[in-house]
Order: sequence, then structure tokens, then C-alpha cells
Amino acid sequence: MDFSLTREQELIKKLAQQFAENELEPVAEKVDHDHVFPEENFKKMASLGFTGIGVPSQYGGCDGGTLEKVIAVSEFAKKCMASAAILSIHLIAPQAINKYGNEEQKQRFLPKLTKGGALGAFALTEPNAGSDAGAAKTTAIYDPETDEYILNGTKCFISGGSRAEVLIIFALTQPEKGLKGMSAIIVEKGTLGFSTGKIESKMGLAGSETAELVFEDCRVPASNLLGKEGKGFKIAMEALDGARVGVGAQAVGVAEEAIDLSIKYSKERIQFGKPIAKLQGIQWYIADMATKTLAAKTLVQYAAYLEDVGKPFSQEAAMCKLNASENARFVTNLALQIHGGYGYMKDYPLERMYRDAKITEIYEGTSEIHKVVISRAVMSK
Ligand SMILES: Cc1cc2nc3c(=O)[nH]c(=O)nc-3n(C[C@H](O)[C@H](O)[C@H](O)COP(=O)(O)OP(=O)(O)OC[C@H]3O[C@@H](n4cnc5c(N)ncnc54)[C@H](O)[C@@H]3O)c2cc1C
Repeated sequence: MDFSLTREQELIKKLAQQFAENELEPVAEKVDHDHVFPEENFKKMASLGFTGIGVPSQYGGCDGGTLEKVIAVSEFAKKCMASAAILSIHLIAPQAINKYGNEEQKQRFLPKLTKGGALGAFALTEPNAGSDAGAAKTTAIYDPETDEYILNGTKCFISGGSRAEVLIIFALTQPEKGLKGMSAIIVEKGTLGFSTGKIESKMGLAGSETAELVFEDCRVPASNLLGKEGKGFKIAMEALDGARVGVGAQAVGVAEEAIDLSIKYSKERIQFGKPIAKLQGIQWYIADMATKTLAAKTLVQYAAYLEDVGKPFSQEAAMCKLNASENARFVTNLALQIHGGYGYMKDYPLERMYRDAKITEIYEGTSEIHKVVISRAVMSK
């Protein structure tokens, strides 16, 4: 068993670390405070190749796989969770098009999503279809006269929804078949009949915009069907498996940073005539935080490894996401506690990290849904 990174992975880690320190950290507080999407940083991510991870170079990508994504996303999450989430969620679209798209679709959409600076989005959730994605009502009815799909319906909570230039929309092409009638359709920004509605105001992850998408007789060429008709739910679930490893990576990154900040602070903060790092209570907090975070990181990397070598990994993706997200909440909570009253103040990044970490237990499947997935998998053996 070899846990070491390859030379290339070490280089990606170093590049991501430098980018996070030099570009993301300086604006993380402003991005959170002003609720602004870090447009410039996203463009820089594209120019450095991060937005094309997992896509072959012939389509503008930079190759690599899930482990490379995990490395980059974790490094970003240390300094700015919103930016890590933006990258992690963006990658779902180019990777899905690379996996399920035909050659024409790859040529058309991938270069802009990889090196072109265009943001991708993945739209499954609807107002009445969250955990129960099968209750989705958005339709995409084929019109043989024009060879187009006509989309009608509303998606909600879509990350990057109003900014994304290429969106993968899950809609019922044969509503009478329910889940078996769901298909994945690529919709481009600016398509007539597609608009964005409410932009959510959130507890955290402020730089990652969360939008409502509205489709009103939105006509899309039939050539934008991703994969086969009726295979949308399968595509969504497979894409979410990979995405969950990405959320695990976000959760690990924010936890690692919270530990580093806690160690530094506890060595500097003097109470009762000595650094609080000398107190056994604080030391035990740090020991728990470090142990659980290494375990979380290892499980995330294991799930990434399974995906990269082409083995089944749905169960491990759910496990790593469940574990890493619960750990991120545990660690950021203790880190804030170690910082005492200062941790509660906006002068320190802890309160932002604590708010940002919470989302990892909710999006791309809640913890409860992951327990359903995991128990089903392990108990059916
Ligand atoms: C910031 C943010 C960004 C998001 N980005 C995207 C995106 O880009 N694309 C996208 O498609 N979606 C996105 N989502 C949606 C997200 O994936 C859903 O919010 C999530 O899946 C939960 O759905 P829900 O909010 O409808 O909660 P519900 O499904 O209504 O769940 C409510 C509660 O009931 C529990 N519950 C539900 N079913 C079960 C069950 N069977 N067993 C036990 N407990 C259960 C849940 O765990 C939860 O605690 C985003 C959400 C947020 C908050």
C-alpha cells in the first residue's frame, strides 16, 4: 500500500497551495462579507488548469483524476471554502460531459469549461424534490417538428446557477415513466425561455452563488441530450458519487486549516501565566481533531483512488462524505472554542469556517441520505 503522492500530484498540491495562499486567502473575507462570486479567481483557476481536472488535454483539460481534484479542492478549502466549492461543483459538468457526451458535445462544450473560464452547473434539485430527486417535475418534451426539447419547470438551490454558461439539467423526457423517464440535457446560458429567479441569501459559502432556475417553454436542440434518453437519473447519481468525494475534500481542507490555526493560537494565547497549549484540555481537543481529520482524509483519498482505478465506489463516496462533513463541523466547532471569544469575532476566520463547514453535511446529499445509502450497501452483502 503506497500512500505517497506522485511527483505530479505533489506539484499540483504545491500549485494549489500557492494559489490558495496568494489569491484566495486575501479575498476570502471580502467574498464572504460582500457575498460576491470571486470571478477573477475563477478565471485564474481556469488559466492554471484547475477547471479542467479529470478531462483529457485534447479537450482543453489537464488530465488527472479524482485524487488530483481532492488535492486541489482541499488546498483551496483551507483558505476559502466558497472557492473550493465553486471548483468542486464546477467540475461535475465537464467531467459528466467527458464521460457521457458524444464527440460533438465534447468538442463544443469542454474547451470552454476547461480552459475557457466558463462556469458549469449541475441542476437536479427542485422545490419539492430534494433528497427525493425522483419527485422532480421539470419536463423536457421532444418536439419532432423542430428536433428540440421544450423544457418547463423550476430548479432550486443551484450552485453558480445564474453565472454558469453550461448547465446540466435533469428533466423528464417521458414524465409517465417517472425516474426511468428522466434525462440529462445540456442548456447554455442565454437560451430563450431560461431565466434565473431568486438568488439565495445563505448562512455561509457566500461566494458560491445559489440560484433558482426557471424554464418556460425553453427550446434546446435535441443534440444537447447528454447520454441516452431515460438515463438521466443514473447519470445524476454517478455524477453525485464523484461530487461527494469533492465535498469530502472540501471538508478535509477546512478541518486541516482549523487545526493549524488552533495550534498556532493556543501557543500564542496566554492565560493563567502560560500558553493555553500547555493545558491538557486543549491538547486533548487538538489530539481528537488531528486524529479524526487524518481518518477523514484517508477515507476521502481511498474513495478517490477507487474512482480513479474504475472500481465501484458509491458506498465509499457516501462514507467519506458523511464522515468528513461531520468531522468538519466537529473540528471547526472545537477550533472556534479554542479561540474563545476571539473565535466568535469576524477578525478571525474561524466563525466563517464554522458557517461554511456546515454546508458539507447538506449538499450533494444530506448526512441522513448517506446513512440510507451506506446501510443499504453494507446490509445487502
Ligand atoms: C448551498 C447549497 C448549494 C446547493 N447546490 C446544488 C446544486 O448545485 N445542484 C443541485 O441539484 N442541488 C443543490 N443543492 C441542493 C441540495 O443537494 C439539497 O438541499 C439536499 O439534497 C437536501 O434536499 P432538501 O434541501 O430538499 O432537503 P429535504 O430532502 O427536504 O430534507 C429535509 C430533512 O429530511 C431528511 N430526510 C429526507 N429524506 C430522508 C430519508 N429518506 N431518511 C432520513 N432522512 C431524510 C434530510 O436528511 C433533511 O434532514 C444545494 C443546496 C444548498 C443548501
